[in-house]
Amino acid sequence: RNGEPDRIVVVGGGISGLSSAFYLLREAKRRGLDIRVTIVETMDRVGGKINTLHRDGFVIERGPDSFLARKKPIIDLALELGIEQQLTGTNPAAKKTYILHRRKLHSMPQGLVLGIPTEIAQFAKTRLLTFGAKMRAMLDFVKPARKADGDESLGNFLSRRLGREVMERVAEPLLAGIYAGDLNTLSLQATFPQFGAAERKHGSLIRGMRANKGKTPAIAANASELPSSARTAFLTFKGGLATMVNALERSLAADGTEFKLGAKVVGIEKVAEPDSGFEEQCGYRVLLDCGEAIEANGVVITTPAFHAASLLEPYVNVDAISAVNYVSVANVVMAFDRATLGYQFDGSGFVIPRSEGTTITACTWTSSKWLHSAPDDKVLLRCYVGRAGEEAVVDLPDEQLKEAVRADIRSIMGITAEPLFTEITRLHQSMPQYPVGHLERTAQLRGEMAKTLPGVWVTGAAFDGVGLPDCIRQGKEAASSLLDATRV
Ligand code: FAD
Repeated sequence: RNGEPDRIVVVGGGISGLSSAFYLLREAKRRGLDIRVTIVETMDRVGGKINTLHRDGFVIERGPDSFLARKKPIIDLALELGIEQQLTGTNPAAKKTYILHRRKLHSMPQGLVLGIPTEIAQFAKTRLLTFGAKMRAMLDFVKPARKADGDESLGNFLSRRLGREVMERVAEPLLAGIYAGDLNTLSLQATFPQFGAAERKHGSLIRGMRANKGKTPAIAANASELPSSARTAFLTFKGGLATMVNALERSLAADGTEFKLGAKVVGIEKVAEPDSGFEEQCGYRVLLDCGEAIEANGVVITTPAFHAASLLEPYVNVDAISAVNYVSVANVVMAFDRATLGYQFDGSGFVIPRSEGTTITACTWTSSKWLHSAPDDKVLLRCYVGRAGEEAVVDLPDEQLKEAVRADIRSIMGITAEPLFTEITRLHQSMPQYPVGHLERTAQLRGEMAKTLPGVWVTGAAFDGVGLPDCIRQGKEAASSLLDATRV
């Protein structure tokens, strides 16, 4: 095409879109291809859910606050961007996590791995559960594994193996933090496939999780190049997660990426039949709400599912995407003068089972968990509200929401002090809920798209993992799949 570089449009400038663009440019360079990338983002900034606020010496995360150190793609990206020295780990003195039971905080039984007990002596001692529930959980050692293969709900799986009480009082509050979901509707295979694999391989979830324990290192193999303070299971950047977004933005701009901010993609038009070859013809026209159209050889869609569905609906069956519901959540961050509190923050915070009936679902003692997040004489708390079935609270007026949250921390922690300031962040329709059968339906959709829309790839948190490292991995996969498909 007259020596013109091939144009690829990335729809959405969250971490999935930014990493798709980053790896598209890298992979194209490696293959000796000349491409030009345009990122179209509705908001007037990139980063999507990642949103760090710096205020009065505090580092406040309005969206995600950290990531799992054992996941290699994000460590790789930090190394590639040269920002690994800015990584930092959790406070080693704040390892304890609590769980609310009958309005009192209990420390989490030792040996829980993703809510699954692996140290039976410790599990037997906990006062969180009745004797009957503990005995029921031990049936996991003798109950035969499920014969049927195929997906089931996470809630069904956990109640089947460990019993309802363990599921509701221990596993759900821990796991639901990641999805704000109802375990009875979330897909086992798309959320925690390792649980099903443990049952199949070891005939028991507990035995399987115990066997895996030593095998999965808490820190990725490439983490040896990180600063010594960044050798903990969770990591973030000293300046907040925006550090990674800013570094990506700089690197992309230096490589000639065009950013169209404040612009919404409203349609994708096909302008060539798949077999006509992209070398000769432009494949797609990406339509923006301002009336502009960008001609493109490839498109990567990284928006939440409901936006992706509307773009793809004219061409393929979008059931796989429409079936992903979203839950709305909010967080209420409060800053205090340490001297006004008189509370001993000896851990990283607590989670709350649904049965406790509180407004908040969890509270992170942010300044205790992340020492860089607040000045020494201050305390930062982040309270979470909203989960599947409890979303109305997210839209309470600010004053009512603050009051409800303060009433909870008063009754749970005895904190009555007036905060120095409060920051409320509402994230409507922000937590994707992978339904049972999600992986199978996604594979079907991808198959159909390969035939009908070659050179269009759909990815991001709605598909194959919500964690930041999973989104980065998906961005990398999008880049190579797209370059293969467009034959640029
Ligand atoms: P998004 O960040 O949603 O980006 C998609 C972008 O597409 C948005 O910027 C949107 O404006 C844009 N867009 C939508 N439609 C269009 C359109 N038509 N045209 C152009 N642009 C469009 N993960 C962790 O690993 N650790 C955590 O601690 C953690 N905590 C979380 C806390 C909260 C409150 C939430 C909501 C999520 C959390 N997650 C966490 C998950 C993680 O933050 C997300 O899964 C991830 O950031 C999603 O990235 P994304 O790029 O796929 O989507």
